[in-house]
Amino acid sequence: MEKILKEVLDTNRKYTNYGQVASYIPELKNARRDDLGICIVDKDNNIYKVGNCNTKFTIQSVSKTIVLAMALMDNEWTHVFSKVGMEPSGDPFNSIMKLETNDTKKPCNPMINAGAIVTTSLIKGSSFADKEERMLNFFRRLAKNDNIGINYDVYKSEKMSGDRNRAMAYLLKNDGFIQGNVEEVLDLYFKQCSIEIDAVDLARIGMNLASYGIDIENGERVMSERVSRMVKTFMMTCGMYDASGEFAIKVGIPAKSGVGGGIMASVPNRMGIGVYGPALDKKGNSIAGVKMLEDLSHRLNLNIF
Ligand code: GLU
Repeated sequence: MEKILKEVLDTNRKYTNYGQVASYIPELKNARRDDLGICIVDKDNNIYKVGNCNTKFTIQSVSKTIVLAMALMDNEWTHVFSKVGMEPSGDPFNSIMKLETNDTKKPCNPMINAGAIVTTSLIKGSSFADKEERMLNFFRRLAKNDNIGINYDVYKSEKMSGDRNRAMAYLLKNDGFIQGNVEEVLDLYFKQCSIEIDAVDLARIGMNLASYGIDIENGERVMSERVSRMVKTFMMTCGMYDASGEFAIKVGIPAKSGVGGGIMASVPNRMGIGVYGPALDKKGNSIAGVKMLEDLSHRLNLNIF
């Protein structure tokens, strides 16, 4: 397997020359554009990794999958879906447009910023600190890594530059989709996006989804089977921004990307895959990362359809 991964990495390394490292959050532009790594954790808990798999980066939008799982675990599903929809938006991840033009004004889905701000607001806790702690602990549990924490430089940078998210959050409050203190909800959202992980962490989280919510190491249930199915389904239909349809056709694996350059993929009953490559296309997906997943999907016959 390591040999295949090495071939995949070497073949697609050329694509790191294309695209741009994200800079709209100023701190993100410090990433090295030619870093590239891919890691697989399979159902027997074997780990295979090549390239920059221990390089830390912020999870960004990949966090939306895990926070969705938490929102579904903390609330009645009907309540969650009264606040956020189930349909792909076809718009960029940070678009505000449909919050005005949709009949219901409800965010289209939990994988775009507006929907994710809603799911973040649904995390339960006795205080802000308790919510933050519960959230971090869930990421640590899924990644089997107690050292996972927040990159405070990125967090501050997001908070400072996050006025578009701020605008959406206030609109969502105005229309009844979030309750309570908007700045507190945003703070938790910026913190979840600033969680620092590596490709191995992403592969482990992806494996928990691939195993339908069972921790393959100790057999414990980390989320219900239905929640794991819903998360994977949202990854398939909305996980790769407004390129999710093309990714489904070409790669055929549930996946979620983030503007930090990470992609988490989950092949049901087989493996979790973590990818890192910070140079992004215009839609926000890692160019070399997508190419590697496409290549790997063909070589290992991973397409779920
Ligand atoms: N923190 C980023 C934002 O809210 C996440 C975007 C992403 O990774 O798609 O703009």
